[in-house]
Amino acid sequence: MKIAKNSVVVMHYAVSDSEGTLIDSSYEDKPMAIIQGTGYLIPGLDNALIDHQVGDTFEVAVACADAYGERHDDYVQTVPREVLSGVEDLALGTQLRATTDEGEQTVIVIDVQDDVITVDGNHPLAGLDLSFDVEIIEVREATEEELAHGHVHEKSCCDTNKEESCCDKS
Ligand SMILES: [Zn+2]
Repeated sequence: MKIAKNSVVVMHYAVSDSEGTLIDSSYEDKPMAIIQGTGYLIPGLDNALIDHQVGDTFEVAVACADAYGERHDDYVQTVPREVLSGVEDLALGTQLRATTDEGEQTVIVIDVQDDVITVDGNHPLAGLDLSFDVEIIEVREATEEELAHGHVHEKSCCDTNKEESCCDKS
């Protein structure tokens, strides 16, 4: 069957930036299982799956607007160190949850000085044009339960133990 909205898609992917540097890949691990159209994937990749089928391998170029968005310089903020005095192990790359005007947000520490800390609320991949190599492993209809939950249920965990499905553990 061809992939359409609400298809369960099991796929391998490798994603690189516009210079060809590998950012992430599922090939070292197990393939990713998603439901098309639920917004789990970035829009540019989600839409590119439509009409593909098992065995297809293809490349998808996704501009940053359809990936993780543009970088916003105003998401970078320098704050007095006292504000983060409760945080242990404050170092470059530390991820923090911060409350902002936009709600809860993950920010990454990008500079540490004696009296001030600079954090960046941009997604690490914001501003990057991405290229995906995709391989479609499996395509099937989503079950009603999967659609209700908005995610894929793996056979192994749901069949063997109905009382405690994979969803309950997360
Ligand atoms: Zn579920």
